[in-house]
Amino acid sequence: MNSTSTTINCLDLKKQHQQVKAEIFAAFEKVYENTAFSGGPFVEEFEKAFCNYTQTKYCVGVNNGTSALHLAMLALGIGHGDEVIVPANTFIATAWGVSYSGAAPVFVDCDKDTWEIDAKKIEEKITPKTKAIIGVHLYGMPFDVEAVKAIGDKHKLFLIEDAAQAQGARYKNKTVGGFGEMACFSFYPGKNLGACGEGGGITTNNEKYYKHLQSLRNHGSTVRYYHDELGFNMRMGGLEGASLTIKLKYLEGWNNRRREIAKQYLSKIKNPKIKMQQQPVGADSIYHLFVVTTEDKDAFLKHLQSNGINPGFHYPVPCHLQKAYAHLNYKVGDCPNSEYLAAHCISLPMYAELGDEDVNHVINIINKY
Ligand SMILES: *Cc1c(COP(=O)(O)O)cnc(C)c1O
Repeated sequence: MNSTSTTINCLDLKKQHQQVKAEIFAAFEKVYENTAFSGGPFVEEFEKAFCNYTQTKYCVGVNNGTSALHLAMLALGIGHGDEVIVPANTFIATAWGVSYSGAAPVFVDCDKDTWEIDAKKIEEKITPKTKAIIGVHLYGMPFDVEAVKAIGDKHKLFLIEDAAQAQGARYKNKTVGGFGEMACFSFYPGKNLGACGEGGGITTNNEKYYKHLQSLRNHGSTVRYYHDELGFNMRMGGLEGASLTIKLKYLEGWNNRRREIAKQYLSKIKNPKIKMQQQPVGADSIYHLFVVTTEDKDAFLKHLQSNGINPGFHYPVPCHLQKAYAHLNYKVGDCPNSEYLAAHCISLPMYAELGDEDVNHVINIINKY
């Protein structure tokens, strides 16, 4: 049986949430009884569990992944007059955190095959103002951490991981989250580990950053009503924390199912018109997204849609060409690989509950294109 009669979407959150509904509702009941809605024990429980999962010493839960990136910049002391290296092909929030701090993002092109930040192109963008590099584990695939870190170390730059799409991904057999000064995660519902609500987190092995982040997310305060610096209200909610602790227990299984689906796409899609993401040496993706490129995107899209497949696009405009960054004066041609990716990318259906019949249907339809 295949599913030509129903649409196969890029992402479907319903099945997963039915699967864990009873358990999560029971946890919500506990949060409710304890009125532990903002921060508190259910957030702390998740933070501990996530440290354990990422093999890092500290985790600070916040209200979303964008805040995580923002606070990471502030904890490093980055602000006006500073520059931070950011890949051009990422979700815009990677750059938002830099801009919120007052610093300027400096966009670097991706490698044409891995679609990850091209370490060889970083050095030419470094100036005396450069303070940090944010590497993004894009689509769940770790970037070449060793190559990027080597450049950062040589120029005494901080390294931040944007691991918003990569909870549980591994680089050289080590889970992402502890390779730089800090790693920023998103727990937006559509991410591999998503809260029932908004959520984010920062992991670090450095106690100084940990303490500072705890204060920054809580109005710049460690003692109630005493404020040491300009702070923010960016705490994680208790309901979100409770839902994440439960979902974290299933994450390895869900990620493995995604790896299995990816394996099928990788081995059974045999169409020279379709290109897939190459993996950097040592990278073990959790396939948050399964993005492919093809020359005639519109024709391919039509072919998929007319066969009941509804893909996504991640992302149609690279950061350096977004209107919001027009003042930085980038132009078409500055990051050609990112621009190519933006114009030709299509995200195939990818989520843990996707059944084999649907996976095979997608493969067959693509092979017929
Ligand atoms: C989702 C995402 C973010 C932002 O996270 P939110 O929780 O949506 O604020 C940042 N960077 C990347 C790469 C993302 O995919």
